[in-house]
Amino acid sequence: MFLRRPLFVSYLSQRFQQTQVKVVSKVKEPQVPLGQLALGPVFRNARLFPGNVAVRDRVAAVPVSPLHPKSLLMYYANDSNSKLIITVPEYADLMSRVANNASTKLQVLDDRLKLNCTLMLANKPDDLEGGRPDTFYNKSNALILYTSGTTANPKGVVLSYKNLSAQAASLLDAWRWNTDDVLLHTLPLHHIHGIVNSLLCPLYAGAKTVMLKKFNANTVWSYLLGVTARPEDRRITLFMGVPTMYSKLVEEYERVFKEDPKMVEYIKNTLKSKIRLMVSGSAPLSQPLFNRWLDITGHRLLERYGMTETGMILSNPYDGDREPGYVGVPLPGVSVKIAKEPVENESIKTLVECSNIDGTVVIQKNGQKDAQGNDPTGELLVRGDAIFTKYHDRPDTTKQEFTLSGWFKTGDVCQYSVEKKKFKILGRKSIDVVKSGGHKISTLEIESALLGCPEVKDCAVVGLPDEKWGQKVAAVVATTHKIENSTEIIEKLRIYAEERLPRYAVPKEWKFVEKITKNAMGKVDKKFLIRSLFGEP
Ligand code: ATP
Ligand code: MG
Repeated sequence: MFLRRPLFVSYLSQRFQQTQVKVVSKVKEPQVPLGQLALGPVFRNARLFPGNVAVRDRVAAVPVSPLHPKSLLMYYANDSNSKLIITVPEYADLMSRVANNASTKLQVLDDRLKLNCTLMLANKPDDLEGGRPDTFYNKSNALILYTSGTTANPKGVVLSYKNLSAQAASLLDAWRWNTDDVLLHTLPLHHIHGIVNSLLCPLYAGAKTVMLKKFNANTVWSYLLGVTARPEDRRITLFMGVPTMYSKLVEEYERVFKEDPKMVEYIKNTLKSKIRLMVSGSAPLSQPLFNRWLDITGHRLLERYGMTETGMILSNPYDGDREPGYVGVPLPGVSVKIAKEPVENESIKTLVECSNIDGTVVIQKNGQKDAQGNDPTGELLVRGDAIFTKYHDRPDTTKQEFTLSGWFKTGDVCQYSVEKKKFKILGRKSIDVVKSGGHKISTLEIESALLGCPEVKDCAVVGLPDEKWGQKVAAVVATTHKIENSTEIIEKLRIYAEERLPRYAVPKEWKFVEKITKNAMGKVDKKFLIRSLFGEP
């Protein structure tokens, strides 16, 4: 095993000065060079990349964001047992405190090191490793990415070059990446969405990436519309975002363009013809947002579902109907099962089984509706080359999360429409799925319904303990207008919900907040909401 102590890299990514990034040479034989590229992307104008040091030293890199709070950076440095932190002068102070705390060496990149990094890129992988490229490729760990910490403390997910290669190959195929593509990149690079889907894929495809320092709705509109200062930034063909980004883009549209009929027309025509694909993921995309985006831009957002441990698992089709609320079918190279809960290691009761073999979806078991006419529902299990190697330093958790036959248990509850032959994510079994009076209720579906109400700006739905029903549904709402009378608005929301949801799914408790706080990937910390607003443990 090559992994010794992982390398802890404070990414420079968020500090790129609106720079263009293009891979220097197109990957001809992706299998081997991709491994090198995974950590050693070549940035023509951006003058880095510390990942090359990781390749040379046969260690895994741990990308983090300078926007993480110091306590989290310390947690990552300690938990990953990193031996070196690489950063830029701008973050030297912050990272030296982190380094002291974790008894780790600190390397502030200077021009000499940047140059070395660049020079290293000229090497072939076998020169770098002094061994057979295929051995390097198959056995080496490339990245440790931390999960978002939604259900428990973030876990370090160890991804090998082989895992990353499989993830990129699958997306290239499904979403038709090509050398003419130009991706507008505004996502953080410590997360699978930002580093694999949006950076590794263009590198693998020999496409171009325009990286922005951070997401800003106004700036993103100007790039999408091709009205930037530099002509080379005007050819964006792809955009990927989390749902919060799309809602911020809608807000900005309403603020700036909505009242101008010419602009409204122009935006719809321009985006539809210029941009070939717009993807949403990492958190559920609500139906009202899907519809509003379609209305504004003519684009049916492609929603996909994935995890740090697995890369992307399910995706709506590139061609064909993208239905809001559904996340499509397995991506190439991915096999999934829906298993009856609780999933036991020894015996899995498979309700649905489906694989994508070289781009063809094969349904091994189509499943059946239950006596009440509900589609098969259970925990989603997944298998394929893209699935992670292990959790860093957590052998027991790793063992627990795989079945004996090698399926990874996602912890997400999934439903399969027998008629439509598509999958739907109901949410995490521990937080998003409320069990009330024998019903399994998806809080994601309730949120999607409530977001259609004109009074609701944002919302999060949770389950609270209930003596009679086991759990009850409660909603936390940020309203579009200041609330004068909460009884009145609760009544309005209750009626709205009753018209759209089964009775048992209508929230029994309502709380109002100014804003629903979300992390950089658009995820809500529901455990925190429950503790802070409802006083539950
Ligand atoms: P932790 O594992 O530490 O609790 P996390 O699961 O939020 O945190 P990530 O790996 O970043 O960490 O997120 C993966 C999860 O995000 C999935 O398991 C799923 O619950 C959710 N998710 C991703 N895409 C979608 C989607 N399109 N719709 C609904 N949920 C999604
Ligand atoms: Mg998770």
